[in-house]
Amino acid sequence: MERKVFSLLGFNIDTFDFESALVFAKNLIEEKRGGQIVTINPEMIETGTKSPFFAKILNEAQLVIPDGIGIEIGLKLKGVDVKRIAGIEFSHKLLEICVQNNFSVALVGAKPEILEKTVKNLKEEFQNIKIVYTQDGYFEDTRRVFDELVKNAPDFVLVALGSPKQEEFIYEFRKNSPQTLMIGVGGSFDVWSGEVQRAPEIYQKTGTEWLYRTVKEPKRIKRIFPTLPMFLLRVLLNKSE
Ligand code: UDP
Repeated sequence: MERKVFSLLGFNIDTFDFESALVFAKNLIEEKRGGQIVTINPEMIETGTKSPFFAKILNEAQLVIPDGIGIEIGLKLKGVDVKRIAGIEFSHKLLEICVQNNFSVALVGAKPEILEKTVKNLKEEFQNIKIVYTQDGYFEDTRRVFDELVKNAPDFVLVALGSPKQEEFIYEFRKNSPQTLMIGVGGSFDVWSGEVQRAPEIYQKTGTEWLYRTVKEPKRIKRIFPTLPMFLLRVLLNKSE
């Protein structure tokens, strides 16, 4: 399966639909090629614009899925018709695929009690899930976590450290274990643990989950605004693609 990437403001984004992206990711595990999956959003592009290292991480990823309405609109402005893929749903589907194929899984990130509840809920949902390693997201010694991951050799690792921490962690870990597939999942464990509610379906369907979360958690306003309008303005003004 060939990637079809579009370069938005210099950042490669895959144009797969949900199902094709899943098959592509499954193949990475099956063929022991592993890789880094990034769920890209305008904030990450902004970070990448300021940090060459982060830009390199994003552009070297094996799969970059368009997470959120901002990227979907940005691509549309460039004439690319791609539907957003919510990272949380994509990761959950990948977990399901792991269970069906007996691929082993590791979870890294979030607060200890959140991680514990997430593991409990996932074990209830997927009785045959093979979780071979867990580590909360508040560790000092990254080397130790890398070594433990290598020792337990999971096929798929979910990393919930927030961005850009999780992408940097995955990028570095990939040097130790190229056959492992990894994805940064942000606040997904908070949701799977039952501690944080996702926005009602109507917001999810219309791509306005960010608006719901901003109203519920006003401190997010600084993160969303002016990132989203500025990002779209930059896309509009950018003539290179
Ligand atoms: N987190 C962590 N270690 C850290 C910083 C954050 O484990 O050093 C976790 C945090 O507990 C939360 C997740 O990373 O579960 C990030 O959540 P956030 O909503 O900030 O991520 P986003 O998806 O917005 O990037």
